Amino acid sequence: MSLLTLDNVTIRFGGLTAVDSVNLEVQQGEILALIGPNGAGKSTVFNLITSIYNPTEGRISLDGKPLVGIPTHKIADMGITRTFQAIRLFTELSVLDNVKIGAHCRGKAGLVHSFTRLPSMKREEAEIEEKSLEALGFLDLASKQDEIAKNLSYGEQRRLEIARALVSKPKLLLLDEPAAGMNPQEKVVLMEMIRRIRDTGITVFLVEHDMKLVMGISERIAVLDYGKKIAEGTPSEVRSNKAVIEAYLGS
Ligand code: ADP
Ligand code: MG
Repeated sequence: MSLLTLDNVTIRFGGLTAVDSVNLEVQQGEILALIGPNGAGKSTVFNLITSIYNPTEGRISLDGKPLVGIPTHKIADMGITRTFQAIRLFTELSVLDNVKIGAHCRGKAGLVHSFTRLPSMKREEAEIEEKSLEALGFLDLASKQDEIAKNLSYGEQRRLEIARALVSKPKLLLLDEPAAGMNPQEKVVLMEMIRRIRDTGITVFLVEHDMKLVMGISERIAVLDYGKKIAEGTPSEVRSNKAVIEAYLGS
């Protein structure tokens, strides 16, 4: 069953067509990777799915519900969360507070309310804390909950971003180059965690350059080049695709 559908999606920035008539379906429960050279339009696809940009043409839907026109801050309510290619943490806040912010973005209580002391708000705050600790546990960061985010290793900071995206229990998790800058050991740990996330029923759509990681965890791979989807298939199909080798893998 298709969870997310991109139907003939195009976006132009002035004279540049960054995403060009892309059709793509993300199936419920799969790990799908989007690969391609720098500037191919991968992050732009994520920005379109999360309504940071509106497509010039085409439709995007989640579970059959249109996403185009839904404001970015409502996208998490629809069940989609993401991480960014460049880490975006509150570096001076604790690890736990960084994750709680992810839950506040979704919950009934805004961040401002969390500083008031109404009993109902206290209960909600306790729930958020519990969920945040659960998400941290999932990314093996529970023991670091009181650490200031900037003191974490680079790999841990990347995992913290994922924990924050997980806390609102999305249907679809978008990861933009989650392994960027990680050492090989950290990448192995990350791969295992992405699998565990998927095994809880969350569909994972990731952009990644590390081919070992992509080939190792994805069920399917889609390939972008100059905004166009040039191939799609299983890792072995994509690896042996002539157009993909010419555009990307051969380089
Ligand atoms: P990738 O993530 O595959 O490396 P991007 O999606 O970031 O590539 O970018 C695709 C192309 O779109 C690039 O040429 C980039 O410069 C351009 N682009 C992305 N966002 C904007 C924007 N807001 N305005 C103008 N050009 C943009
Ligand atoms: Mg990118």
